[in-house]
Amino acid sequence: MSDQFLIPTYARQPVSFERGEGVWLYDPAGKRYLDAVSGVGVCNLGHAHPAVVRALGEQAARVMHTSNLYRIPGQEKLAARLCEVSGMEKAFFGNSGAEANEAAIKLARLHGRRRGVEKPVTLVMSGSFHGRTMATLSATANRKVQEGYAPLLEGFRQLPYNDLPAVEQAVSDDVVAILVEPVQGEGGVIVPDAGYLAGLRALCDRHGWLLMLDEVQSGNGRTGSYFACLAEGVRPDVLTTAKGLGNGFPIGACLVSGPAADLFGPGSHGSTYGGNPLGAAAALAVMDTLTGGVIDAVDARGEALRAALQQKLSDIDLVRGVRGRGLMIGIQLDRDCGELVGRAREAGLLINVTAGSVVRLLPPLIISDDEIRFLADTLSAVIREYARDQEAA
Ligand SMILES: *Cc1c(COP(=O)(O)O)cnc(C)c1O
Repeated sequence: MSDQFLIPTYARQPVSFERGEGVWLYDPAGKRYLDAVSGVGVCNLGHAHPAVVRALGEQAARVMHTSNLYRIPGQEKLAARLCEVSGMEKAFFGNSGAEANEAAIKLARLHGRRRGVEKPVTLVMSGSFHGRTMATLSATANRKVQEGYAPLLEGFRQLPYNDLPAVEQAVSDDVVAILVEPVQGEGGVIVPDAGYLAGLRALCDRHGWLLMLDEVQSGNGRTGSYFACLAEGVRPDVLTTAKGLGNGFPIGACLVSGPAADLFGPGSHGSTYGGNPLGAAAALAVMDTLTGGVIDAVDARGEALRAALQQKLSDIDLVRGVRGRGLMIGIQLDRDCGELVGRAREAGLLINVTAGSVVRLLPPLIISDDEIRFLADTLSAVIREYARDQEAA
């Protein structure tokens, strides 16, 4: 096995997996790992979920792909389901989070054109992440993501996250939209104050801007409701999602309502694979399962995990706090702690460190009480040993 023919865009860990079941992944030697990353917030139903496996197998044997030149019953059904759970009006399907956000960014420009704004600006937030395509990395407020790719796309203005007065001060004639994550993921699991989204909604209403929520990571049950905005009672004009929607089958969606619902017409946007029969079948099985009881348990499971972590980590000085919503959880350390990833892996636990100093946990939403205990016990032991070694160094 060699990676010499792969462009080295990832710093990969020295491990691979042969199979998965629920929250567990197994390497070729048969060692098992509790997957508290879920393929970066993707496998919300865990690995090899029978409902998803069945839907994919049955659909693959019938017809996988026909293209958007024709009607696709599964895609129409999936759009209806997404609109039903979100209160949105229509859906467009692509294959990733970046692609869903590309659609949102194009919608903002069409909205600007309709309003006679020559150079429309979309407000974006510090610490955000919206993807790696040219448009989405231009919207992403992270120098590392943008490094080397100038000239960036114009039309984005960056403001501090969770700061309504800053948005009020940014009011000007060229602004047409806000693109924001309801809970920031890559930025370090940052939960804004209650009322932040509602405040943005009010500003968008007052000024005729589109409120565009990036729920690529926070959606599909991750934060305890189907979409994070539902818990706040806020309906956006554009809602993007991906990651958990296919549980590993690549699919993304851009949902629209109100002033954003009639901006795209025939020929104005497209995607060869987007919403094909196979992807739609996977996502329908995922949605049925998530809404069939899984999401109802997320708040309690998230609270149990946060409480266990808080209790076990409270006496460790370099731990600054545990935060999050539902099963999107961040542990803030006082220093860069990337080496925790390898230490946890050795102990049979897959974790992720984001924003340098935040341990991010995105376990499958189906995690059991015993598995929550294993996660908290293992992780706290790993962090405790790390803290001792740091002190000794
Ligand atoms: C992961 C992510 C994206 C990008 O999704 P891809 O499927 O990798 O293109 C966009 N926005 C947020 C909030 C994400 O977490």
